[in-house]
Amino acid sequence: MSAVGGTVQFHEMGLDDRVLEAIAKLGWKEPTLIQEKAIPFVLEGKDVLARARTGSGKTGAFVIPAIHKILEGKRTAVEQSVQVLILAPSKELCTQIKDCVTQLTLWCKREVRCVDVSPQVPIEAQRPLLVDKPDMVVGTPMRVLAHLNAGNLVIKNSLKMVVVDEADLMFAFEHLPDIQAVLKHLPKIYQSFVTSATMWDDVRQLKNMILTKPVVLRLEEPPLPAATQLTQYVIKLEPMDKVVLINVLFHLNMIRGKTLIFVNTVDRGYKLRMYLGQFGISSCVLNSEMPVASRCHIVEQFNSGKYDIIIASDEQSLEDPKTKINKPKNSKKGKRKKDKESGVARGIDFQFVSNIINFDFPLNSDSYIHRAGRTARGSNQGTVLSLVSIKETNQFNKVEKRLKALMPDTEGSVFKDFKFDMSQLEGFRYRANDAWKRCTSIAVREVRKKELKQEILNSERLRTFFEDNPKDLQILRHDKSKHGLIPMTHLKHVPEYNIPKQLRRVSRVTKQTRANKKVPKVPLDQPRTKTQERYMKRKANPLQSMEFTGFKKQKT
Ligand code: AMP
Repeated sequence: MSAVGGTVQFHEMGLDDRVLEAIAKLGWKEPTLIQEKAIPFVLEGKDVLARARTGSGKTGAFVIPAIHKILEGKRTAVEQSVQVLILAPSKELCTQIKDCVTQLTLWCKREVRCVDVSPQVPIEAQRPLLVDKPDMVVGTPMRVLAHLNAGNLVIKNSLKMVVVDEADLMFAFEHLPDIQAVLKHLPKIYQSFVTSATMWDDVRQLKNMILTKPVVLRLEEPPLPAATQLTQYVIKLEPMDKVVLINVLFHLNMIRGKTLIFVNTVDRGYKLRMYLGQFGISSCVLNSEMPVASRCHIVEQFNSGKYDIIIASDEQSLEDPKTKINKPKNSKKGKRKKDKESGVARGIDFQFVSNIINFDFPLNSDSYIHRAGRTARGSNQGTVLSLVSIKETNQFNKVEKRLKALMPDTEGSVFKDFKFDMSQLEGFRYRANDAWKRCTSIAVREVRKKELKQEILNSERLRTFFEDNPKDLQILRHDKSKHGLIPMTHLKHVPEYNIPKQLRRVSRVTKQTRANKKVPKVPLDQPRTKTQERYMKRKANPLQSMEFTGFKKQKT
């Protein structure tokens, strides 16, 4: 097999033309590292254990050869059967895998059919989908097992390949017993593919259970894109300064593009949303305590551009696989019921995220990497801004050290100082303090209660219950809780005198740009004016405005 520029190209892998055409339609010019290494081994029939992070193209690494093999088998197959089973730890991941299969089977959708059984509908409702024996079945271990036990899915004699995606999360979400039970339904011989972001002991345990003499791919890929693609800023500040700063960044339109803000607890996510909401900055929260349908809906709306800001509570750091297994059952974190099939930082494919803001610094480097990995995907640019309080300095130092070790090619620190003179923000401090204080834990609880009520009213599953018990519905509808804060509409408008002199220009420039005062595009070969240069530069880097002189510390 020859290689162009050192990389084996898709068309050199001997893949079916229909798959190649679908890859071309997706605009995937060349395989990612994991795809380049793994696809040939899968095509050869080898078991593969791949250490791969989300965003590395790992889904394509198993879906592409799986489709090819199904198509190949169709030439001689006598009867239709389920040939590939893909297990993933969350419903969102299952949906993404199914979407990837749909895209890659664009030119052979009649020949290769795939069913995702992860949606939370009654098992019986999904039975008709499985009657025709789709070629591929995707699902969480729990759902797949339910179908196997119900006799809806029979794979004992037909299955050729099993994939376990994000194996480390399988442990974190306690899917292991279900996987073990699923394995009992598999034929004696099958090919397997396991992906995992880490190679901890528990993943090795799974390796022994499921893989036979696997090729282990520990790809020497840096965990995050290079500094030319991903700029990582840090600012160390007092906890309350975080609150003022985040408000200013959004309020004065200094953040461009879609943004994911990460906090460390669910309540803090709601608090931040309420706080920003008082200034007319709208955002939505995402966490695993929300029903799946709502979560998927939010991600879809974010991807389609309806929202620009999501505030996510980082489930990965709360569900650290290393500590989770030994966590005492009555520990505080486990108090609220979380959906074990959900993950926010990992897996979910947020598209075109320009900025990540760590409002709370993550608890460990894995979590940092997973958060940061939500931006600068493909060949896009991205920015991470971490707000680090004195209390979080230790955590930050550990993460910085670890990142440096993982990315030895980086000169100096992985992080750039985000130069911001907080004294310039005194004009905002009073309003910010006031608004933050209004978001008390009682107010947060009331907002959550209101949302829960809304979820109940919207629930398809409870519809029949309410049809039988209309009084309950009435009570729920008329239960006027004291939720919510009166929006402080006057806070939406910051008077010019309150904006520090140095920032006024930034604020005004942004407003003018927003008001469609477009700077005409100039062909690359023609000279540009300074304004055009600056505009083009800013467009390339969503947080460029942060580097305006107004933000730099004043020389004394
Ligand atoms: P994954 O790691 O499988 O979740 O993939 C992350 C993103 O990379 C998805 O949005 C894919 O569409 C994209 N992707 C996967 N393979 C390639 C490729 N060879 N070239 C460009 N983008 C890709």
